[in-house]
Amino acid sequence: MTEIRRRDLLLAGLALPGIVGAVNHGAGDDSSEPKRFEDTVGFEVADVVSRCRLAILPLGSLEFHGPHNPLGSDSIIISGIAERVAARTAGLLFPTIRFTQCPAHTAQFRGTISIRPEVMTMYFVDVLRNIARLGFRKIFILNGHDGNIGPGRGAIAQVADETKDAALLFVSWWEFLPGEMMKTLAMFHQANGGHGHGGPLETSAMAAFRPDLMHLDQAKDLAETPDLSGGPPYFLQKSTATDWPGYSGKVSEASAEKGRKIIQISEDGIVRLIENWLKHDEVPGSW
Ligand SMILES: [Zn+2]
Repeated sequence: MTEIRRRDLLLAGLALPGIVGAVNHGAGDDSSEPKRFEDTVGFEVADVVSRCRLAILPLGSLEFHGPHNPLGSDSIIISGIAERVAARTAGLLFPTIRFTQCPAHTAQFRGTISIRPEVMTMYFVDVLRNIARLGFRKIFILNGHDGNIGPGRGAIAQVADETKDAALLFVSWWEFLPGEMMKTLAMFHQANGGHGHGGPLETSAMAAFRPDLMHLDQAKDLAETPDLSGGPPYFLQKSTATDWPGYSGKVSEASAEKGRKIIQISEDGIVRLIENWLKHDEVPGSW
């Protein structure tokens, strides 16, 4: 094809209503495909930013999740949930951040790539700053990895402090599946409802998106992690990995079918949270 013909076709394409219409992901659009930041064409940027009230930034990891799960488990799960959430809330979906900080007790396993927490905080600040600079005033950070919580919340504090009229909301997908709820669902027979790094809950969620990457035959069931507080959450950071195999729980209870149910519950909860957040936009205060 000659340069002229290609250029003419491109210009004709730009004038087609279908192409311009594809920019419109506002209310009433029931498309199941989210609008992606990286697919946004240069000429569309201003229009897309003004139409999407919400920016969605998924955070993943590249981390050993036991011999039975892929290193990208967190990234695969959170990208999958974020796609569905973005489609349902008409948010602009940003690419998942995959190279992140991993705690010492998984960083020692082969396959984990860990960025220092202070570097990660500055990196998140720069990404969020640029998203805010684009014009977004509602930024939803959808987290899929425990190690992102500290740096992520630190970065949010800084960007909120320096940006006018912005609101940043940070949640982790598994928080929509509290231990008590999981116990009533009786999917996994352990006291914390199947939670834990590379455990049956997370392995099931992974399998929901990529059953082809699931290798349960590679891992044996482990004794469940002791619950030190009897329910309330706590944060325990160990410096070594010598006393565990890099995953937890009764992984033989994991399945793609359970994963699909889990993901649906989490997705529905996240969508409800976002809808309430946008709906109560006018209420003053730091609720
Ligand atoms: Zn994980």
